Amino acid sequence: MSELPAQEPLVKEIPPKGADLSAWYTAVCLKAELVSYAPVRGCIVLRPHGFGLWENLQKELDARIKATGHENAYFPLLIPESLLNREAEHVEGFAPEVAWVTQGGQEKLEERLAIRPTSEVIIGVMYAKWIQSHRDLPVLINQWANIVRWEKATRPFLRTMEFLWQEGHTAHATAEEARTETEQMLGVYRDFAENVAAVPVYAGLKSASERFPGALETYSIEALMPDGKALQSATSHDLGQNFSRTYGIKFTDVDQQIKLAYTTSWGMSWRMLGAVIMVHGDDRGLQIPPKLAPIEAVIVPIVKGAETAPLEKARELAKTLRAVGFRIRVDERDRSPGFKYSDWEMRGVPVRIEIGPRDLAAGSVSLVRRDKQKGEDGSRVTAGFDAVAATLREQLDAVQDSLYARAKAFLESHTFAPADRATFFEQCKNRAGMIDIPWCNRPACETDVKNQTSATTRVMRELQQPGARCVACGEPAVVNAYFAQSY
Ligand SMILES: [Zn+2]
Repeated sequence: MSELPAQEPLVKEIPPKGADLSAWYTAVCLKAELVSYAPVRGCIVLRPHGFGLWENLQKELDARIKATGHENAYFPLLIPESLLNREAEHVEGFAPEVAWVTQGGQEKLEERLAIRPTSEVIIGVMYAKWIQSHRDLPVLINQWANIVRWEKATRPFLRTMEFLWQEGHTAHATAEEARTETEQMLGVYRDFAENVAAVPVYAGLKSASERFPGALETYSIEALMPDGKALQSATSHDLGQNFSRTYGIKFTDVDQQIKLAYTTSWGMSWRMLGAVIMVHGDDRGLQIPPKLAPIEAVIVPIVKGAETAPLEKARELAKTLRAVGFRIRVDERDRSPGFKYSDWEMRGVPVRIEIGPRDLAAGSVSLVRRDKQKGEDGSRVTAGFDAVAATLREQLDAVQDSLYARAKAFLESHTFAPADRATFFEQCKNRAGMIDIPWCNRPACETDVKNQTSATTRVMRELQQPGARCVACGEPAVVNAYFAQSY
């Protein structure tokens, strides 16, 4: 079907994913036109295809945030230094990464202003003003915002100086309520990762050394990348009364006593998109799960000479599909079908719809799945004109499910439970994957593992075998922990 002029390469140069994940990743981000590097070191520009991905993440996650009773609001970008300095542990944790505004116009500022590295401080100060009585609680607010953390290295989505995220900040009357909220949001993140991004994760509590500065407890979801490194994809913090004490978030309770509120914060950034790219992509380029795809299906009319019927049919079909909610692009470029096929494959569009003169005559179109190899069973199906919407729905659901199943199989086959210390250290060092052991939860033990292997605890859960000993050091185990090297 695709006669190609020799000068049109099928796939723009992408190094094989298995050979060098990092080179593959950067090439795909740039060539699929998700991002460009900005003139400012450490910053990226999100191009329309990349921003479309972000918008879909936002839409899906925002719906879940609102469904659990939260509202969106917006707080300022700049934080006065004196406010930031009040919470000592928090400041110490973020100090090396804060960017400062020292001058406004011609005038040197009397007080430096921090560009938010996170918003606990500015939001805490406002909550202290808004909250007076137990009747004002809980406060359940989320903000979609940009953040600046001074980074020297740049890796699109994974590590950039400025990034986009959402940060939820809540205040509650009791410790139990705050803990329930923290766990609930961890569940929301897990649901989003698995059911929208098709990225399976391990969820749980962080060890003390991995905790958010100023938090009582931090929970996170951790995804496994193809190179055996873990990627922390979202975090949820129980801040206890630490921030309330510093910023004076107090309320008069039903018993007329003045009490400190319990607060939480939780966030997911565009880093999650980095996980999506690494987990699902292949040597042909990106593979975007349908629920996040800016374009769910591309229609490629196969036009020969002055023939316009396939193009007209493509436009008509696009209109019909858009009317029932699909995100559709018609590729009308003056390029060969073969070039278009590989170009859209590289950009990760989940389904391609082909309409040629022969299809027109038969009253049908072909739907081709991105997640299957050419000629593989089910890679191509035919649908009559009236059945395109229903068939497309089925195909998109099938792609979504198969991407998740594949990633889940990878995670499971790369999760290990070594029984002895030597195997454990070797697997940590070799980046074998997620290494699950009964663990003593002692900082000294964690430091020892880190120094010898570069692996750290990712998340902890309940001890699976009561009475077990820590595989890393032999002391009594109190939890099970996943260890891995991480991004
Ligand atoms: Zn230990």
